[in-house]
Amino acid sequence: MKLITILGARPQFIKAATVSRALIEYNRSVTDPAQRIDEKILHTGQHYDANMSDVFFRALEIPQPAWNLHCGGIGSHAEATARMMTGIERVLLDERPDRVLVYGDTDSTLAGALTAAKLHIPVAHVEAGLRSFNRRMPEEINRVLTDHLADRLFCPTRAAVEHLRREGITDGVMHTGDVMYDAALIFGRLAAGRSTVIESLGLTPKSFYLATVHRAENTDDVTRLTAIVRALIEASTPTCPVVWPLHPRTRSRLEAYGLLAPLSDAVRLTDPVDYWDMVRLEQSAAAILTDSGGIQKEAYFHRTPCVTLRDETEWTETVEAGWNILTGSDTDRILHALRNPSPTRHEIADFGDGHAAEHIVRALIKNVPSQLGRHPMVP
Ligand code: UDP
Repeated sequence: MKLITILGARPQFIKAATVSRALIEYNRSVTDPAQRIDEKILHTGQHYDANMSDVFFRALEIPQPAWNLHCGGIGSHAEATARMMTGIERVLLDERPDRVLVYGDTDSTLAGALTAAKLHIPVAHVEAGLRSFNRRMPEEINRVLTDHLADRLFCPTRAAVEHLRREGITDGVMHTGDVMYDAALIFGRLAAGRSTVIESLGLTPKSFYLATVHRAENTDDVTRLTAIVRALIEASTPTCPVVWPLHPRTRSRLEAYGLLAPLSDAVRLTDPVDYWDMVRLEQSAAAILTDSGGIQKEAYFHRTPCVTLRDETEWTETVEAGWNILTGSDTDRILHALRNPSPTRHEIADFGDGHAAEHIVRALIKNVPSQLGRHPMVP
């Protein structure tokens, strides 16, 4: 089978790393070459800085992209998506793959799914069925549309399966578990040996907070970003500093709003860090403050309390289990949640058995059961 995986942004590299590993394992296990899945990666170039892209391919040993469309830093969503679609179409017409695989909810996801579907190439979506129910988020629009274009929908949680059912999508839907849980298990064990970030930043484990902010709803709204910055400055002390690896978009907005200078006096700002450093920081932090989707879950996977700087989340399981508190951008609520984590926290079984990537590979090679509920997890 000829498979083209379309990627473009940091969280997708991490998700794809687990499936690419599982594909390599699967290919090793089959003797008949006709049964192999030949994966080629198409990188749209949406994220292009070395520390947002190349470091992940190297560190996580993801096969090098066969194509890079260099679509990063292009104006609006429409312009970027259109440019990606034109490049993707050219590759798909030349290659004529049997299937396209897309991940998550970025413009690259939608561009890949829409282009393939119009060429009648079947689309598989990893991380299907997530919903924030906030249509002002570009990610929500990307994921809803991608789910309606895909014929294989690999859901990380049961809630995701249920969201799809409510939208009338039941064929090709499976609860595989979460590939990011696989990643946390595989790479979490190795991080201590591969990262010296705690030592190089002079941090004491469990005596610092880790922050990340990059969602447009926070970065592009000066009132929200100012309120978050105020909370981080107040939370950061010499004995328990806030460490904040800055997403390039956030850095440019902080500069534009005049917030960078006061922030850098109080908070430990760094460039984006590689995945090994990120995992080590997540494992060692006293708590995490974030508006990232992936990091909310990684906080739970590494059993670190999380404060989510958004008004809603796709990962409601983490909130219900007591590991995550939603605060929006309100300074007082952020500080209160940070100082008062939930006293009772439960385990969450829903993210799967740590082998989501293998379940996905198995589903790619055989017919997918269509009846929801009969197949809670791919056998
Ligand atoms: N990440 C990283 N370095 C950083 C910030 C994030 O390796 O400096 C990783 C993080 O561990 C997670 C993924 O990037 O696996 C999340 O990406 P992001 O927050 O950009 O996107 P989202 O999950 O919100 O779509």
